Amino acid sequence: MDWEKMIAKAESVCTPRELSQSSFAASVGAAIVTEQGNIYTGVCIDTPCSMGFCAEHAAAAAMITAGENRILGVVAVHKKEDGSFEVIPPCGRCREFLCQLHDDNHLAQVKLSDRVVTLDDLLPFRWK
Ligand SMILES: [Zn+2]
Repeated sequence: MDWEKMIAKAESVCTPRELSQSSFAASVGAAIVTEQGNIYTGVCIDTPCSMGFCAEHAAAAAMITAGENRILGVVAVHKKEDGSFEVIPPCGRCREFLCQLHDDNHLAQVKLSDRVVTLDDLLPFRWK
């Protein structure tokens, strides 16, 4: 897994901006690589009333739109106020969401700040 390339892709879409008086986007960017070797990116959309969604969710939607659903790896980055980036883990909802898109996605690798784990590691004792 070329994590440097994945992180660069996630950072490339991570351009925080205001969408309206109440909504913001792209403080987090994510990149998903599939078994076909394609990389899909997405950004978070933060809106009131919990209607927004995470960058991983947006990247997964792009992947599904393109006709793929088997994830081999995922990484998300957050752009800090000083302009630097930090790798962040997927939230619980995204862990579950990505697992449900393909029966083998629980084996997908997840880049954390200091290690690589699988979705299984982050979401043990899955229900089916
Ligand atoms: Zn999430």
